[in-house]
Amino acid sequence: MDKKKLFLICLFTGFLGGHYFAINKYKRGILYLFTAGLLGFGWFYDLIRIAMSGDFAMVIEEKERLARKQKEKIMIQKKLEQEKINEYQKEGVPYCPRCHSTHLTAQKKGFGVGKAATGALLIGPYGLLAGGIGSRKIELTCLNCGYRFKIGEKR
Ligand SMILES: [Zn+2]
Repeated sequence: MDKKKLFLICLFTGFLGGHYFAINKYKRGILYLFTAGLLGFGWFYDLIRIAMSGDFAMVIEEKERLARKQKEKIMIQKKLEQEKINEYQKEGVPYCPRCHSTHLTAQKKGFGVGKAATGALLIGPYGLLAGGIGSRKIELTCLNCGYRFKIGEKR
């Protein structure tokens, strides 16, 4: 697509997404069609981008590629996180419900502050199995995000 031609298309039909239809980006074209070129801002922005960039279609292509890559990365992270949680649950390892860290401190209920700081014990990954806690409720504090929660209510 010739740059000058695309610029003119954008200038006259940009608020209808014309320049996106011209480079076969129909999704964006439709978005522009229904939002009047993102209320004119997208239209204006694209006019500048078409004027400034060597190949507007390539710029959009690259942007979409990066967005896809980012999305993929997040999906993989989510999957790994879920696998980690499944593993924790299987092994009975306590983990923070908010950030899923296993870096927790435990404080037995009833302990006061001060001297009772000795009552706090540090739990590393896999260091404390839920079965070993007994039936007593233990309040855990996540060292990663500071979230407080209780475990040991069952069993
Ligand atoms: Zn946490």
